[in-house]
Amino acid sequence: MLVIKSSIIVTMDRNYRILKDHYLGIEDGHIRYIGKTKPHDYEEYLELDGKMVMPGLVNTHTHVAMTILRGLKDDVDLDTWLRKYILPLEVKLKAKDVYYGALYGIAEMIKNGVTCFLDMYYHEIEVARAAVDACVKAVLSFGSADIFFERTAEEEFKIIENFRKDLLELANQRNANDRIFFAYGPHSPYGCSRELLQLIREASMVDGSRIHIHLSETRREVQEVKKLTGRYPIEYLDEIGLLSGKTMTAHVVWPQDNEIDLLAKRGVHVLHNPTSNLKLASGVAPIPKMLEKGVNVALATDGPASNNRLDIWKEMHIAALIHKGVSLDPEVLSAKDVVKMATINGAKALGLDDIIGSIEVGKKADFIVVDLDKALETTPTHDIYATIVYCLDSRYIDSVWVDGKKLYSLEEGFSSIDVSLVRDKVQSIRERLLQDV
Ligand SMILES: [Zn+2]
Repeated sequence: MLVIKSSIIVTMDRNYRILKDHYLGIEDGHIRYIGKTKPHDYEEYLELDGKMVMPGLVNTHTHVAMTILRGLKDDVDLDTWLRKYILPLEVKLKAKDVYYGALYGIAEMIKNGVTCFLDMYYHEIEVARAAVDACVKAVLSFGSADIFFERTAEEEFKIIENFRKDLLELANQRNANDRIFFAYGPHSPYGCSRELLQLIREASMVDGSRIHIHLSETRREVQEVKKLTGRYPIEYLDEIGLLSGKTMTAHVVWPQDNEIDLLAKRGVHVLHNPTSNLKLASGVAPIPKMLEKGVNVALATDGPASNNRLDIWKEMHIAALIHKGVSLDPEVLSAKDVVKMATINGAKALGLDDIIGSIEVGKKADFIVVDLDKALETTPTHDIYATIVYCLDSRYIDSVWVDGKKLYSLEEGFSSIDVSLVRDKVQSIRERLLQDV
């Protein structure tokens, strides 16, 4: 057993316990002990003076391989960005490009304290391979869009089935069944035909898999879907029967009030991407209204080409501030609620809250260590959640652990990724893509 003594443990458990000077016992990748007294039997002992342990952060919506396209075009709206700049280069991406782009982005996420993420992309099996190699947890969805790619719904669904088969094979081969997970990834109500959405709904009802979709991201999308279907996007998905406790919806910036009620009624999870929504001028999602209705809201970065970082800590800071400013009400979103969004709510959204999202006996040992003494801003601390959200940032992350294994530390760097090699690969892929244009 590895025993860790920490000055403070922010558990994010059911009672949101904050434990001072407690011991953690870690064995076989799980948390086996939390207590005031030091266990007798252990192989390794770590004393973390002046440091805090908290759950690994969950990034609930990204397209991680887009590190390759980061900075390609900034300061334009979503439609111009996507259709004019991103899609023409994305079609040139090869499988190996996606692997290296993903691995580089995963390194960035690990360094920023993210231990689990939900992804959607093409060549998604390569993102899965990168996640397995990097030893993080990931829920992987193949970005399906029969309308964009001019395929039939059946052809598009066949691609999903093949991806699912490959993912299962990879998980079995690499003994990663408790680290990589499948989800359906219909891109959006405007990228997918009604037939494809129906096929996915039926399949999900049979196999119980989750569904990951972009939803009501821009005003233009809402108007287009309304024109085409006679319904607002959330109403439209509900009509198809796609909304349930297994549905993970990214953005939801422009819901009608009755649609927020629908999200709450169906138990749909909302993945909030404040930076991406601001940067692409999509708007500000009415998160406080959703929370008031009982919707589970988690945090996300979106892809690194529209953020342009993969830092959930930064998203916590922005989320905590933006909703106060927009509503002129400082009480709409507390620091504690924001930390929940980055940890346990993220785990719930991904359906993984039985194994991650909090520091509890029986859960996986996925956690981060934050150096409180290194940050001058932590003294004095009255409310640890406020310190996390308003004072600290990911620079103070000292080490990052998944399944009880140290994947990164400030002192030793990465244990599972050769970052300089991957950086060179990403750079050369980018140069090749731009030459081809
Ligand atoms: Zn997205």
